[in-house]
Amino acid sequence: MNESQNCFSSADTNNLDCFMQGLIRRNPHQDEFHQAVHEVAEDVIPFVADNQRYQSEMLLERMTEPDQIVSFRVSWVDDDGNTHVNRAWRAQFNNAIGPYKGGLRFDPDLNESILKFLGFEQCFKNALTGLPIGGAKGGANFNPKGRSDKEVMRFCQALMNSLVHYIGQNRDIPAGDIGVGAREIGYLFGQYRRLTHEFVGALTGKGVSFGGSELRIEATGFGVVYFVRHMLDRIDADIEGLKVAISGSGNVANHAAQKCIELGAKVITLSDSGGTMHSSKGLSEDDLAQVFKIKTEQRGTIEEVADAIDWAYSKGKNPWSAECDIALPCATQNELDGNDAKTLIKNGCRIVAEGANMPSTAEAVAQFQDCKKLLYAPGKAANAGGVAVSGLERSQNAEHRYWSMERVDKELRGIMADIHQRCVEHGSDSDGTSVNYRKGANVAGFLKLADAMLSQGTV
Ligand code: NDP
Repeated sequence: MNESQNCFSSADTNNLDCFMQGLIRRNPHQDEFHQAVHEVAEDVIPFVADNQRYQSEMLLERMTEPDQIVSFRVSWVDDDGNTHVNRAWRAQFNNAIGPYKGGLRFDPDLNESILKFLGFEQCFKNALTGLPIGGAKGGANFNPKGRSDKEVMRFCQALMNSLVHYIGQNRDIPAGDIGVGAREIGYLFGQYRRLTHEFVGALTGKGVSFGGSELRIEATGFGVVYFVRHMLDRIDADIEGLKVAISGSGNVANHAAQKCIELGAKVITLSDSGGTMHSSKGLSEDDLAQVFKIKTEQRGTIEEVADAIDWAYSKGKNPWSAECDIALPCATQNELDGNDAKTLIKNGCRIVAEGANMPSTAEAVAQFQDCKKLLYAPGKAANAGGVAVSGLERSQNAEHRYWSMERVDKELRGIMADIHQRCVEHGSDSDGTSVNYRKGANVAGFLKLADAMLSQGTV
């Protein structure tokens, strides 16, 4: 950082532009990071302008500058004896309210901009859970697709040989994300344990047989649906019988589908990077079992699932042209653009709740925010159930106890209810009739983090 202009020292209406110009200058060519920060700054800067306590100490500048980012080489050997070199990172963003916490992503397209947007969002999300966890994100430009279990194991072990120096149960506790599920966390944890000679909760998302929490795998998807139910309750509506379009067919998407089916909603789409399968009759429990078998166990495609359960399949298409009451984007960032948003609105969609991180482009979010008939919940609120149960896994590890599925589910429901309440508290308009969930989530997350940072002094 080469300048320290304080954009918040006056009630200048150009505060947002001033702030974003500085951010873009300091972080050139990082479009995803700019997008994530802009989305928060649009809500937080007017709040700061009205609240003098938060105008000093460069709070938003400090929140947008990661504490540290480490990057390292990962060399590993494939099944044919060839050596490969990948790059891995850990972006430790802010630990003012607790040790760093956030997932690891394995994706050939991963870069520093994506990591920084994810790490920045994670700080606000983790603050919203009410648990003592700071924000971080990491991963590698490694593509696990088509790799054997042994190759994935060797990659994970090689990665941990370096990552071990930066993480720990009270320091930084990684979990899974895109491309990193139970298999990868198992290999990573095994290597951490061998290297440190310690059996501690330095990773979450572990198998239940070795310190993992019940419901961690389901938590993000279930949590999204719990959040949606609170949104519906507020407008005296029920999820039963509603049509739900879901994108993705990974961890978040499939468990969101599972909970929707359990509650009597109709899941009419699932997708993957190849295309979308759709049917107006809705996914049955048997159909969903095929999804888990083909996508999760066999690592196949949604086209193969569509074939197996006799659904229509559209290659290269996303789900957003389906007529639905609820849209749950659960695949990846910027998967739903301005045109998709227009189509959803035109087709009468009433709720968009983000299971993925930043799946809606800035144009799409603007359309949702402008539409009086649609409620929009950003990922940092709606998908916080995953990190919340990771926080509960950490508690179980610290007290050397196992909590039952019922107990974890009760805690998860309580946390999602509290997050919804915080959004309502900070996002309601003056007469309390409508809620801007994005504003509520951004301001509530900012307040928790800002208060912790102010109390601990500037360094
Ligand atoms: P998975 O790897 O389990 O699943 C990702 C799904 O998204 C797959 O179906 C994948 O398709 C699809 N996908 C990936 N890239 C694209 C693309 N460019 N276009 C269309 N589909 C795509 O990941 P998760 O379910 O864990 O994560 C999904 C999202 O949820 C991410 O944004 C993640 O950051 C977020 N999230 C995850 C949490 C968790 O607990 N796992 C917690 C909070 C947020 P394919 O199978 O073809 O690759």
